[in-house]
Amino acid sequence: MEERYESLKELGSGNFGVARLVRDKKTKELVAVKYIERGKKIDENVQREIINHRSLTHPNIVQFREVLLTPTHLAIVMEYAAGGELFERICSAGRFSEDEARFFFQQLISGVCYCHSMEVCHRDLKLENTLLDGSPTPRLKICDFGYSKSALLHSQPKSTVGTPAYIAPEVLSRHEYDGKVTSPMNPQPH
Ligand code: ADP
Repeated sequence: MEERYESLKELGSGNFGVARLVRDKKTKELVAVKYIERGKKIDENVQREIINHRSLTHPNIVQFREVLLTPTHLAIVMEYAAGGELFERICSAGRFSEDEARFFFQQLISGVCYCHSMEVCHRDLKLENTLLDGSPTPRLKICDFGYSKSALLHSQPKSTVGTPAYIAPEVLSRHEYDGKVTSPMNPQPH
């Protein structure tokens, strides 16, 4: 890890560990690395995160690069989204105009639609997992596949995962659900 990448700063921390900005020493490219402590934190969710994220390549999804092991951590190396979280952008804007909201929403839908075409459902879509790249007209980048499921590799989603404030009602009320239909933005008709 240290031979290839030089650590620059912390980007954020979540449930599983910290994300850091690092530079590829050879290409000078900036990338983000999510560090998860080795040991019992490396469970089947981490396995799914890696397998599912690795299978995806799309302009609206943070590009997975590689996984490395350090003596203490598992490190997921991925594209760096320099524009930060969409959450922050909305907070500082107060509210978006319809045009701006549409601009981001179309990109979000495009990324989600691609995930579903690859049989992966994210299951924790929210503004904090929706990043932006550094360009003047930002490109939206979905990140954090820590709760994702693959319809090809895994069982039908049934566990109640996600972030409480964003969970779709049917995820709370049903034993099994279709992760591709169910989304806070696309509730199933009852
Ligand atoms: P967790 O699964 O622990 O919530 P995340 O993958 O969501 O971890 O990362 C935590 C935070 O780190 C994100 O909310 C974001 O602010 C930052 N971050 C994660 N990945 C990137 C990235 N590729 N580029 C820029 N910032 C990132």
